[in-house]
Amino acid sequence: MRLDKFLARTGFGTRREVKILVKSKAIQVNDVVVKDSSMHIKETTDQVSVYGEIVKYKEFIYLMLNKPVGVVSATEDSRDRTVIELLDVDVHHFEPYPVGRLDKDTVGLLLLTNDGALTHRLLSPNKDVPKVYFARVEGIVDEIDIQAFVDGVTLDDGYKTKPAILNILSKGEVSEIELSITEGKFHQVKRMFESVGKKVIYLKRLSMGALKLDESLMEGSYRELTEEELESIQ
Ligand code: URA
Repeated sequence: MRLDKFLARTGFGTRREVKILVKSKAIQVNDVVVKDSSMHIKETTDQVSVYGEIVKYKEFIYLMLNKPVGVVSATEDSRDRTVIELLDVDVHHFEPYPVGRLDKDTVGLLLLTNDGALTHRLLSPNKDVPKVYFARVEGIVDEIDIQAFVDGVTLDDGYKTKPAILNILSKGEVSEIELSITEGKFHQVKRMFESVGKKVIYLKRLSMGALKLDESLMEGSYRELTEEELESIQ
């Protein structure tokens, strides 16, 4: 890989900025001062340092975002603010994208990464990765709904859902529930409740596989996954 690309990927700035570092003799590769920022290096074995500090190569980034209301789970959108616009510029060079989608009005756990293999494993329909949602639903959710969701309900387009686990937290004019589903159809949770005549008025994703939303993250904030979290979803 070109040295300037490597340094851009590790957060040392644009190619132009790297050129300036080279001019000021700040960069060394295997203890030799670099003269040309376009030189090629082996990112896994060559030792690159900037002002004497060794630069560790990082190919992938894994971010946990507590998605707020009003932003869309896309990398670009002509009308709405995207989740990418919530990220600091220092992670943009990784080109992260959201793993799956949450609706504009849904909040909670959204993983962003540039790791295509992990994305594939988490989203693959035959992997049955459970996603747990908290929801507020108009009207009384009851045992009949629990059974209907276990049996599978038919959505408005005729699709029959896989078994889902519904846990009722409170019943009333507005009921509070947790729902675990292993699929990710468009508006799935809302449409599942619609199929039993009920309306979701608040939806938050709590987990995806073993990865749980860090409740200390304010809506709109994000952080990198810890090593343990990353391992738990490999
Ligand atoms: N189901 C929905 O209806 N909306 C989401 O954002 C996620 C799951």
